[in-house]
Amino acid sequence: MVVRTGRDVVLGTLLASGLSVCASTALYAAIAFWRDGTLDPFWLAFSAAAPFVLATPMVAYLLELLRRLARAKGEIEELARRDGLTGLLNRRAFFEAAEEALRRAREERCPLTLLVLDADHFKAINDAHGHAAGDEALKVIASTLLAATRQYDLVGRIGGEEFAVLLRNAAPDEAGLVAERIVSAVGLADFRRAGRPVPLSVSIGIAALEPGLDLDGLFARADAALYAAKRAGRGRSRAAEPGTGEGFVRRGLRAAR
Ligand code: GH3
Ligand code: MG
Ligand code: MG
Repeated sequence: MVVRTGRDVVLGTLLASGLSVCASTALYAAIAFWRDGTLDPFWLAFSAAAPFVLATPMVAYLLELLRRLARAKGEIEELARRDGLTGLLNRRAFFEAAEEALRRAREERCPLTLLVLDADHFKAINDAHGHAAGDEALKVIASTLLAATRQYDLVGRIGGEEFAVLLRNAAPDEAGLVAERIVSAVGLADFRRAGRPVPLSVSIGIAALEPGLDLDGLFARADAALYAAKRAGRGRSRAAEPGTGEGFVRRGLRAAR
């Protein structure tokens, strides 16, 4: 909260009242001078000095309020970028950040690789253990993703049980290793219901940035590779063949952005 109750209200009211008293005193002195032509040196000194004395804490207080306001604005903006369940970037924030990362990668001629992940047989987890358990499983997958990636990679939840990771400065080979690390880490994650382990699994499609490819094209390739990973039996990653997938338009991708 920008203005906290109690102390802030009392302080603000006192300072504001102080300044009003100063203003009225100055006005009173000015009227007296205009009417009688006399100037009481005490009131003159008081009405000249008091506003400065009061203005210093008032300005400091206002600056402090502005600082808090800026901090609160930053916090609200950050919250709006996050997925409520997992705390990862939400779909919109992921795509915005990914567009920017793509632009920079092209400018700096750095490699960039996208991983698109989908939890395997997730409906079965919901059906067997309930939607709340499914939510917990999504949180476990999200924290596994964060643990397996670097701080400057982008990690987002882009759909119900779908995630995306944009590996900055990572060539396809390196990205392949990260994807495998994620697949095995999710497989090893300790997720239990009623004391019993519930196995989790993800499939991953990998696509590397190439000249002439935009974000939609990159997603299309990663999606095609994800589809191949699913067909090959799930719980694995597949890299897109260069030059594939452009014709595969992700369901709702363009519409949702
Ligand atoms: P596949 O391996 O082919 O991906 O199978 P799947 O069961 O994961 O795929 P499907 O698309 O049939 O089902 C996705 C399920 O994910 C269905 C939906 O209820 C569930 N799901 C989506 N979002 C959430 C969520 O926020 N919480 C929970 N608990 N479940 C979710
Ligand atoms: Mg899915
Ligand atoms: Mg799924």
